Amino acid sequence: MVFKCVHCGYKVNSLFIQYSPGNIRLMKCENCKEVADEYIECEIMKAYSHLLFNTRDNVDFEVFVDVILLNIIFVSVLLLATSIMLTSLTEITRVKDILLAIIVSSYFKIFLVAMMIWEFPSSVPCVVDVLVLSSNAVALRVVTQSTIARCILVCFSAHATKFLANQMLRH
Ligand SMILES: [Zn+2]
Repeated sequence: MVFKCVHCGYKVNSLFIQYSPGNIRLMKCENCKEVADEYIECEIMKAYSHLLFNTRDNVDFEVFVDVILLNIIFVSVLLLATSIMLTSLTEITRVKDILLAIIVSSYFKIFLVAMMIWEFPSSVPCVVDVLVLSSNAVALRVVTQSTIARCILVCFSAHATKFLANQMLRH
């Protein structure tokens, strides 16, 4: 990516060097020897202070324990449902395949993590859930070679159990 010096318009390769989080050095323009873009510092500092001061208090340790517990429940139900409704889970490699497929297909969860930091419309979690569920089902189908309807049913039961467990934890 190429940036431009805000003083003379000369091309600069980077606006700053980051040594560690919050520790940056602004780059100088080779042409006019001014700091190429001093405003970037304000932007970076604003982003860091937002992360440090406004999210740390809201995300506490209890939430992470809940998330881990819910994921254990989710994976257990998923494997149980897979062994009942789909194929028999005799091979250990199959379990590994299924877990990998579920992890890879759950990348939509990145949006949920992002939501802990930035504000999104309240409809977003629901949309993400549907996307995760459908991609899980497709991944499961590839691994187990079963019908898509069965895969959706397996994924739905796992997601539903996780949802109910989440409701129980919150009350
Ligand atoms: Zn310049």
